[in-house]
Amino acid sequence: MQQMKYATYGIVFQEIPDETTLAFDISNCPYRCEGCHSQFLWEDTGDILDNEIERFLEKYRGMITCVCFMGGNQCMEDLIYLINIVKSHNLKTALYTGENDIQKVSELIPLLDYLKIGSYRADCGGLNKKTTNQIFYQIDNSHLTDKTYLFQKEKK
Ligand code: SF4
Repeated sequence: MQQMKYATYGIVFQEIPDETTLAFDISNCPYRCEGCHSQFLWEDTGDILDNEIERFLEKYRGMITCVCFMGGNQCMEDLIYLINIVKSHNLKTALYTGENDIQKVSELIPLLDYLKIGSYRADCGGLNKKTTNQIFYQIDNSHLTDKTYLFQKEKK
């Protein structure tokens, strides 16, 4: 089994709309997007997440509604293992990946509530730009609904 590592973590509110999310920044990202805002994730750095995730879920019990793995799907086996642990705590599950081909993450779809897919392209912009190449899906029983527009609401 590969060993999935996280470089940093935090509670975030904007990455997954209407959820309070514990987000792990997964290192050793293979995508190398030009203009990447998190180049520290390119290195094989950080701590192995593994069963350590139980400690985080206990620490934030009652405070979070979702757990998001950010940076890629480079350790598929570990990711499936960890997502199943999160689900056993009745929390929602999310993945942010720079992968462009949704078929490459198809085995995760039945396990996920949210999926952001697509490499970062500076010329297209992130999810908040109408020109973005990235897609944010809400998933309900493996049915994907494009909810990218939630990131593009006009600010008053
Ligand atoms: S997927 Fe994210 S972390 Fe990885 S290179 Fe692209 S922008 Fe950077």
